[in-house]
Amino acid sequence: MKLYILFILIFIFNSIEAQTDTSIVWLGEIDSTIVTDVRYATTNNFTGKVLYPTAKVYLRKIVAEKLSGANRYLMENYNLRIKIFDGYRPLSVQKEMWKIMPDDRYVANPAKGSRHNRGAAVDVTLIDSLGNELDMGTEYDNFTVKAHPSYKNLPEKVLLNRKLLRDVMIKSGFLPINSEWWHFDFKGWKKFSILDEPVK
Ligand SMILES: [Zn+2]
Repeated sequence: MKLYILFILIFIFNSIEAQTDTSIVWLGEIDSTIVTDVRYATTNNFTGKVLYPTAKVYLRKIVAEKLSGANRYLMENYNLRIKIFDGYRPLSVQKEMWKIMPDDRYVANPAKGSRHNRGAAVDVTLIDSLGNELDMGTEYDNFTVKAHPSYKNLPEKVLLNRKLLRDVMIKSGFLPINSEWWHFDFKGWKKFSILDEPVK
């Protein structure tokens, strides 16, 4: 078979696979030692509304496994753990967020979809053995330049905490973004399609 035909067939197969794969897993099933704090299941979030009917975090299986790897590494080497604020987010929720915060530096335009809508992004921080969050300089969902990873006018300890989180996440297969210290995309996010399955 000509090589280019083979490439076309692989491309078609991959696209079909991406469109039909709607599987997400409950993170607790993969790693019950990761602490969850799902603000969107409460009114304690930037919208002031309960957006999820559950505080359970769902992700693509491989993404959950990679996050579990990061958590294990932190426990073994630093006696720290991951705390997760958000994972998979249905597209309908993305639309609600966009109505309140139509700024694509902080909320992905639902016309394009967020990597959270693909179950391939996580919002995380670090906690110590007592469950206290490490100081990252701002709260989660702080939509100012102070939350940008490039913002350096912060105490040395904060910069080191951010660097540790970033380094461990990159090492575990995630990519950081420019506007939020807590957000990481799974490196292979493109192969997962946008979903609007409700969380249960
Ligand atoms: Zn995020």
